[in-house]
Amino acid sequence: MPLIKKHSILATAIAAISVAFSAQAQYRLPDTHNTQHQDLLASQKAITADIKIANTLKYLSEIQEREDMMDSEIFTEFWEIDAVNPYGSKIEIPNTKDIDVSEYVAPVPGKVNSNYGYRRRFRKMHRGIDLHLRVGDTVRAAFTGKVRLTKFQRKGYGYYVVIRHENGLETVYGHLSKFLVKPNQTVKAGDPIALGGNTGKSTGPHLHFETRYLGLAINPAAIIDFENRVPHKDIFTFDKSTYEKSQKYGPTKKRTTARKRKSTKKSTTTAKK
Ligand SMILES: [Zn+2]
Repeated sequence: MPLIKKHSILATAIAAISVAFSAQAQYRLPDTHNTQHQDLLASQKAITADIKIANTLKYLSEIQEREDMMDSEIFTEFWEIDAVNPYGSKIEIPNTKDIDVSEYVAPVPGKVNSNYGYRRRFRKMHRGIDLHLRVGDTVRAAFTGKVRLTKFQRKGYGYYVVIRHENGLETVYGHLSKFLVKPNQTVKAGDPIALGGNTGKSTGPHLHFETRYLGLAINPAAIIDFENRVPHKDIFTFDKSTYEKSQKYGPTKKRTTARKRKSTKKSTTTAKK
């Protein structure tokens, strides 16, 4: 190598080092650092979950479980359809179905802000339950399963996640601020899936949470005791006729029910007297 070239390489190296030094002197954390750090913390599992995995055999069996889950048939049928209810009317709904909900983990610890049911003010069914949270709070998968959708709907759910579970249910998480999972990713009950928010048609930070069976939105409070953050029973029995009855909400029907209730109350009081 000619001497002159060696010199120029040396000069370039010295220049690069001095640039690096001066850059280090001015070094600042990037603006995204704090958010990235928070996201990292949010995506970490609860400490108790890690302690449970201390047993290697259990850990291996969990890996096997996840692999089995990937092969499960329920994650192929009506999977690629880009809708909260992917089944539409194309599937026959059984009269009853036992659904194992024993592994339930509360998506957020917050209280119920608003219940499932017909909303007179909007003349519309509210197909989920609203749970209190603060923007940025971690939202967790209610059951083990596989993420089907992570999407945005400006006039509705905002940023939302749909997970299909091994027990046959799908859960929907709406008004989120950030996704922590991607479609086709497997999740265990309690895994962080998103950060809570106030996106879409929302009047304040909360989690809109739905439980669906073959696309039908079941009242989550029928399955879960939200006050104590546990399922009412280990097995929830879906009953088609009960579900259909619960859908017959409406301004006229509601009034009839209210009147009926009043008369029942009266007769009970009379009977007591
Ligand atoms: Zn809601």
